[in-house]
Amino acid sequence: MADPSRIKQFSVEGLRSLLLDWGEPAFRANQLLHWLYAAAVDSYQEMSDLPLSLRLRLEKEAPLIAPQVLDKKLSADGSLKYLLGLWDGSLIETVAIPSRSRLTVCFSTQVGCALGCAFCTTGLGGLVRSLDPGEMVDQLLVVSKDLGRRVDNAVAMGEGEPFANYEASLSALRIMNNPTLLGIGARHLTVSTCGLVRQIERFAQEPEQFTLAVSLHSAVQSTRDLLMPSLCNQPLGRLRDSLLLYAEKTGRRPSLEVTLMDSVNDTPEEVSALLAFSRGLLCHVNLIPFNKGHLPDAGLGFRPSPPARFNEISAILQRAGVACSIRRSRGSDIQGACGQLKGALHG
Ligand code: SF4
Repeated sequence: MADPSRIKQFSVEGLRSLLLDWGEPAFRANQLLHWLYAAAVDSYQEMSDLPLSLRLRLEKEAPLIAPQVLDKKLSADGSLKYLLGLWDGSLIETVAIPSRSRLTVCFSTQVGCALGCAFCTTGLGGLVRSLDPGEMVDQLLVVSKDLGRRVDNAVAMGEGEPFANYEASLSALRIMNNPTLLGIGARHLTVSTCGLVRQIERFAQEPEQFTLAVSLHSAVQSTRDLLMPSLCNQPLGRLRDSLLLYAEKTGRRPSLEVTLMDSVNDTPEEVSALLAFSRGLLCHVNLIPFNKGHLPDAGLGFRPSPPARFNEISAILQRAGVACSIRRSRGSDIQGACGQLKGALHG
C-alpha cells in the first residue's frame, strides 16, 4: 500500500484498504469518499459525520491539501484556462470549455511530460512528476466550483501522457465515473494518448466504456518520427494493430487526432498515408488547427495549414468512407495549448 502521506494519492480501493487497516468500519470509506469528491470540501473539519478522532488522524497522517488557483484566463470564445499550484509547489494547467448544454474539462495527468513532441511547449521542460488520482479529479472540482455547474465531459488531454501514468489515470477516471461521486458517464470520459501501444491494448481490456483518442499527427513514419521522436520505437504498423485490437475488443470507435501543419502533414503524400491508415479501421479522424503559440522558441518553423486545406482533406477522407470532422480551436488567445500559461508566467 502507498505511504499515506496525502489523501488524494489513493484510488477508491486504496482508500478503502487504508481505513480498514486503521480499524475503521467498511462504510467509513464511502463517507470519506463522499466528502472528498461529491461534497468536495476543502478540510476534514467539515466532514461532520466522521468521528473527531478519525478526522484528527487523517489531518495528521493523510493531509487534505486543496490546489490553489494561481491564475485564470478567459478566452474571447468563453473557454477558461486555470493555473493551479499543488501541495509541493508544482504547477499544472486545466482548461474549461463551457457551452450552453455542457461543460468540458481538459485535465492534466502529469507535471510536464517526458515525451518531448517537437510542436509542444510542455515537452520542452521534461517530466517533473506524475499526478495522483485525486490531483486529476481536483481539476474538475476546481472548475465546477468556480463556474457553479457540474462537469459533463472530461478529457485527459492537458499536460502529460496519461498512459505514462496509467494506474493513476484509470483510478481518476473511476472516481469521475462513480455514480456516487462525480457521476460522469464513461463515454464522456476520454483518454488522449500519443499512441503508447501496450497501454492501448491494456485499455481495451478495461471493463468501463471510456473513450480513446490517439494523437496520430501523421501516418508517414518519417514525419511522425520528426514530430514525436519518443515514439520511434512504436511504429505506425504496430499502432494500427493495437487500434484494430481495441476496436475488436470494445466495439468502440477511437478518434485519430491530426493537427494540420502547412507542408508538414497536409501534403498529398500525407493525405494518402492518412487514408491508408484510417481506411478499414473503426475510427473518426479529427483535423485540428495548429495553434502557432505552441511553437517552442527554437521551433522547427511549423505553420498552420490554410483553412481551405482542412476542407479538401476532410472531403477526400469522407469520400473514401472515413468519418472525419474539423475541430474548432478554442482558447488560442489565452495560450490554450498545454504548458503555455505556465510558460507565460514562469518562462
Ligand atoms: S504533445 Fe502531449 S505527449 Fe507530446 S510532449 Fe506534449 S504533453 Fe507530452
